[in-house]
This record gives sequence, C-alpha cells and structure tokens, in this order.
Amino acid sequence: MPFAVTHALLTLFAVLLYFDFFQKKTIFPPHTIFIAALAGLLPDLDIPLSGLLNLLGIPFPLLDHRGILHSPFFGLLFFIPAVYFMHAKKRHLKIYSFLLSLGVLFHIFLDYLIGVGDGHLGLPFLWPFNAVKYPPLLALFHIQIPIIFYLGLDAILLLVFILYDEYKHKIKNFI
Ligand SMILES: [Zn+2]
Repeated sequence: MPFAVTHALLTLFAVLLYFDFFQKKTIFPPHTIFIAALAGLLPDLDIPLSGLLNLLGIPFPLLDHRGILHSPFFGLLFFIPAVYFMHAKKRHLKIYSFLLSLGVLFHIFLDYLIGVGDGHLGLPFLWPFNAVKYPPLLALFHIQIPIIFYLGLDAILLLVFILYDEYKHKIKNFI
C-alpha cells in the first residue's frame, strides 16, 4: 500500500501543478499545503480510528480500514460545503472543501492504482449502494509489490517535492 508520505505528497503535487499550470495568478489561501496534505491522508484515518474503537470494545465495521472512509461517497460529501461556500462567496473555505474532496478521491484512486490490497482488502467504490469491496488493480493481476518499493517511493517523492519547491519558490506564494 502507498504510505502516508506518498499520499500527502502526490496530493500536494496535484494541487501545486494545478495552480502552476491552470491558474495564471498563483495566490493560495494560507493553509492550502496543510489542507491538501491532510486531504490526501484523510481516508487512512480509519486505521487509528478502528484500532481505537476496537480497543475500547466498540467495534464499528463500517469504519474498519478500507471501509466507508475509502468510498468515493465520502470524498463527494465535501462537495456539499464547497458548493455552499461558493455561493456564500467564502473563497478560502470553498477551496479547502474542494481540496478535501479531491484529496480523498485522489487517495482512493492511488490505493486502487498502486495498492496491492492491504491483506487483499478491496475498496467499497459503490458504498452506500453496494457494500462490495472491489480489489485494487494490481491484485487483479496477482502482482505483489515488496514493501521496499513503497519506502523508496516515499523517499523519491520527498526529494522531488523539495527540488520542485526550491525551483519554483512556491512557498512565497502561500500568502
Ligand atoms: Zn488508504
């Protein structure tokens, strides 16, 4: 499975590239980096959450790892406040809500694309209409990826991100 750094950095990259190439005037709201990284990690909140609930003796299967927090439905929920804030002309809150939505959807896409299944756990793409967990792409082809690949991916992405940021000097644009 992709680790936390991969999820956070790839979401950040997607956001930065969007602002760099599709928005001519690159002025981000103050917490854009934090919210984008948080959004990329949000679905895996089910790992500590389910662990805590199980520890307390309150099992809640829907919150198990790769449960409802890994459904596109969860990501799309953030569109509701996004649309509300758009109409209320609250630019920053609108952007944060869209980031949360897209970050969650991007996380699910990555788990599908390069995750091998976390003990062959699938993803509930159609929840709440259907509770079936669909296997990630690589699991369909019985491809196993060694954990060192994901560790290496974390390290490479971190270096590329630092280089990109240094090159573009984007930090100054987060005002
Ligand atoms: Zn995940």
